[in-house]
Amino acid sequence: MHRHFDRRSLFRSAGGLVLLGGLLPQRLLAAPLGQNPFTLGVAAGDPWPDGFVIWTRLAPRPFDEHGGMPAAPVPVRWDVAEDDGFVRVVQSGETLARPELGHSVHVELRGLRPHRHYWYRFMVAGSDSSPIGMARTAPAAGAVVDRVRIGVAGCQHWEAGFFDAWRHIAGEPDLDLIFHYGDYIYEGPRLPLGERIVRQHIGDEIYSLDDYRRRYAQYKSDPHLQAAHAASAFAATFDDHEVDNDWAADKDQDGTPPEYFHLRRLMALQAWYEHMPVRRAQLPGLHGIIAHRRLDYGRLLRLHLLDTRQYRTKQRCGLDGGEHCRPVEDGGGSQMLGAAQEAWLDEGLGGEAGWNLLAQQVMLMPFRYLESRAQGRYNLDSWSGYPDARSRLTQLMQKNNLTNVVVASGDVHKHHVGLVPMREHDLEGPAAATEYVSSSISSGGDGSDIPPGWEDILGENPHSNLVNDRRGYQLFTIAPGQWRTDVIGLDRVSVRGGNKHQVAAFVTLPHQPGAHPA
Ligand code: FE
Ligand code: CA
Repeated sequence: MHRHFDRRSLFRSAGGLVLLGGLLPQRLLAAPLGQNPFTLGVAAGDPWPDGFVIWTRLAPRPFDEHGGMPAAPVPVRWDVAEDDGFVRVVQSGETLARPELGHSVHVELRGLRPHRHYWYRFMVAGSDSSPIGMARTAPAAGAVVDRVRIGVAGCQHWEAGFFDAWRHIAGEPDLDLIFHYGDYIYEGPRLPLGERIVRQHIGDEIYSLDDYRRRYAQYKSDPHLQAAHAASAFAATFDDHEVDNDWAADKDQDGTPPEYFHLRRLMALQAWYEHMPVRRAQLPGLHGIIAHRRLDYGRLLRLHLLDTRQYRTKQRCGLDGGEHCRPVEDGGGSQMLGAAQEAWLDEGLGGEAGWNLLAQQVMLMPFRYLESRAQGRYNLDSWSGYPDARSRLTQLMQKNNLTNVVVASGDVHKHHVGLVPMREHDLEGPAAATEYVSSSISSGGDGSDIPPGWEDILGENPHSNLVNDRRGYQLFTIAPGQWRTDVIGLDRVSVRGGNKHQVAAFVTLPHQPGAHPA
């Protein structure tokens, strides 16, 4: 189907929508904006064999009330084409950008062909088309697939550095998907004392829906982040900073009454939904959001996108004690995924996929830090604070006889490569999975290859193959017989124009966990 777009047809079809939406035509026709409403770019996400989500948010003046939009629904047209010139348009349609959702739109495309690239754009009466985005559908169910390529990134503190890593990701050839492990925004007003601020957040710590929207708008105003979204579909998840540092279920780090924190979390997750290219199934409700989901790439790969925040028990107390934490002597029963998500994962791990990717947020493998930190030698916000939940997870892998599990994580603002041991304290013993922890886009600032004082860290962690403190990202090139991970670092993020380099490359084989130098 080829449909030429012009202003008159939009007005006609806007009139058509009126019947569906029960709105007065004048209300819709009053919408022409006369200003570019696509200041936050476009995005695609969660590919499936015959489609993916396409996203935009209308915000001609993103930091003003309602993003500069009228307080009314506004019709948005969209086109999907087989070429970037939109000569072969295969689908077009119309949707409403509603003020209830910050004038964001999420369209779930259907009926496209498997494992093919498509281009998409949006149009609003009275303004130019949006930037053009590209995304690739997933292979058909059960298809034999030669190769899938996935970028991994997250932790993009606005104030800590420029987003040139996103520019480099946007330039990576042939990506099927970008997995975002979270910390897409940071909720705080300022970086901690002593960290270098390269550009400033607008406003104080964020609490209200408007605050969160403004923060997303600020981050999304970055051209490099927009370029990455335009270049590939994302699989978006959230970690703590999309809501509040180190939150756990309905508890924050300060001991706020859970019924109050729950309201803040609801607004934060609504804003997350509004700004991410995710399906309607991820629309939050009063009780939270269903963020764990699966993406299949034929017979080659199954991605299990996990939620390690909403259902976890409170962090264990460190050596320094603390008020708002779980006492060490609390014993077993700690939850990271919650019983329902664990059961869902168990069911999904039993499939026939050549590879299983656990795409999640915080480091799964135990990791011993050298310095005696106030917390102790383990990061208690990671799975190391939830050892019995971790044991249950590795038992799931063993129960399903899996040797092909790869874990992708982030959170620590460093690259880590290593093995997840089957037994908690037997770091050199048999491994349940291979883990690739990707460094941050900007959080942590410039960094260095080895942080000062960390020269002996690998000696303390014999299951670990690499630690690197450069900003950057990782690339997974996944084939039936081999999984290759390229670890990419940036020379600096404190000034614009940072260059990328390859820090290392590893190969994992499907019959046994391991990370072998490529
Ligand atoms: Fe972070
Ligand atoms: Ca985090």
